[in-house]
Amino acid sequence: MDESDPDPHRVALAIDVGGTTLAAGLVTTAGIVVRRAERPTPTAGAGQGDVVTAALLALIDEVLGPGSDDGPTPLVTCVGLACAGPIDATAGTVRPVNIPAWRDEPLVASVAAHLSGPPVVLVNDAVAMTVGEHWRGAARGTDDVLGVVVSTGVGGGLVLAGRPRLGPTANAGHVGHTVVVVDGEPCPCGGRGCVETRGSATAMVRAALAGGWRPPGDGAGPGAGSADRSPAGRADGRALAAAAAAGDPRARAAVERGAAALAAGFVSAAALLELDLIVVGGGFAASGPVLFEPLRRHVATRSGMPFLQRLRVVPAELGRDAGLVGAAALALRRRDDVTAGSG
Ligand SMILES: [Zn+2]
Repeated sequence: MDESDPDPHRVALAIDVGGTTLAAGLVTTAGIVVRRAERPTPTAGAGQGDVVTAALLALIDEVLGPGSDDGPTPLVTCVGLACAGPIDATAGTVRPVNIPAWRDEPLVASVAAHLSGPPVVLVNDAVAMTVGEHWRGAARGTDDVLGVVVSTGVGGGLVLAGRPRLGPTANAGHVGHTVVVVDGEPCPCGGRGCVETRGSATAMVRAALAGGWRPPGDGAGPGAGSADRSPAGRADGRALAAAAAAGDPRARAAVERGAAALAAGFVSAAALLELDLIVVGGGFAASGPVLFEPLRRHVATRSGMPFLQRLRVVPAELGRDAGLVGAAALALRRRDDVTAGSG
């Protein structure tokens, strides 16, 4: 634990809900994750919201249960709940594009009832990642940053003038649903031509399969069919990134196409807000140069105006902890604001 932590035993419970993974952790006031647990997001369709909620509450019980660490169980004083968007922070509900089982799901009420005590702050998962990276990661010391999560979908969050820019219902920063293809294909959000229709790992895999790429083990061997959400063998972002890194031209073409769409969204956001820094995290960003080389190249070729040429696109530094750290930061700040306001 960080020796400088002023309050090591009063922690935030942080929760990060994504289309692929549910994560929960205990985070100190110094932003250190002292305990974490995760499990796959259950595959559940419309009307099966209870299945996903039950998995999340079980995960919370796991992280709050007796730990393997020797010290006393920390006291949870607030809860930061990050969830894939869109969310409605005012109503406390979520309807993640990539979790179809939840439509206007009252997630804040479910979590609050389960914990019966500490206040629950709901934030967009990509906003949480951005705040985490601004606090302790790649965007330290920067006033203005767009954080982007490239995974099942494409999420985004903004810190402007040093503070999270949330918007009235906490949906500001949804760069994945800015439009980069006029009259483009339908997006799961209900719009058309969004960045996410090409730039998500899901879209890149789909494009690669359409171009003739097949993941290793497809249709034969022990690996075939082992991933229940990938009927065509292990046709997921990890397999695609590995194939692209190995030089498979169909995989590379799909990543190139996705990177171009992401870059178009990045440059548009930077032009709108005069951003110098975009931090990219999420499962597919972990593929490293496979994504960042074409991404930076496409950003460079689209950055015309001088101020855009300062734009840097860098990998997130906190990895899978970024969302937890950011959700905790927002919950701790809200707790401190309330405490200060009542004192
Ligand atoms: Zn969209």
